[in-house]
Formats: sequence, C-alpha cells, structure tokens
Amino acid sequence: MGYYTLAAEASFSAAHRLPDVDKCDRLHGHNWRVRLSVRIDEANLDGLGIGIDFRKIEEVARAAVADFDHAYLNDLEPFKDKHPTAERLARVVYTRAVARLASIAPTAQLVEVAAWEMSDYRVTYRPD
Ligand SMILES: [Zn+2]
Repeated sequence: MGYYTLAAEASFSAAHRLPDVDKCDRLHGHNWRVRLSVRIDEANLDGLGIGIDFRKIEEVARAAVADFDHAYLNDLEPFKDKHPTAERLARVVYTRAVARLASIAPTAQLVEVAAWEMSDYRVTYRPD
C-alpha cells in the first residue's frame, strides 16, 4: 500500500538580522512562506477517500507562524540565543506543528517543513 503526501502553506511578513552575514547583517524583512507536508497512509483514508482536510494542515501552519507575522524575529523567544536563519525558522515551525498535528490528526505524520524567505530561496527541514 502506498501513501499520500498532502501539503498546505501559510505566509507572513517579518524582519530579522543575521549578524556577521554579509548584507543580512542589516535590518531587513521578507515575505516568508512555509509549507507543511503531511503523510497519510492509504489505509488511513476515511470513507470519503480523504486523508486529512487541507484546512487542518493550513490551520496548523498558520498557528505555527502566528507570532512571527509583522515581528522582528530576533526578539522572539525561539531565536533569543540563536539567529533567525531560514533553517532555524523551519525547525521551529516543525517542532510547533508536529505537536499540534499529533493532537488534531493522529494518523497524519509531518514529514517536511519548507520555508521560503524569498521566492527563489527555500530551505527544507526533515526529521531523521
Ligand atoms: Zn533575511
């Protein structure tokens, strides 16, 4: 039996600084986007043939980035001691989303978080 991968996205605007990283050392902002990809095993489709409502994934994505919108990321708790790189942002989103998804959709497995800081620049986090 195979499995399905379903994905939904959320976006937000946020500023950050990456000290000692060339131009990124200066205060600047991005229109960020994150995408959660969720695995559903074929055996877990419901009677309608649905694995998980896309809106649930979207809700989890939005909740995971809610405090980032119109914020200065360096000031937020997850980035207090670690600069808010796209890699770390994707990791924080993963940690938040995996917990929430487990409570609202136990048969869904979060397999990947992608984060764009610009349309051409994307980082993907996957757990081992
Ligand atoms: Zn940047």
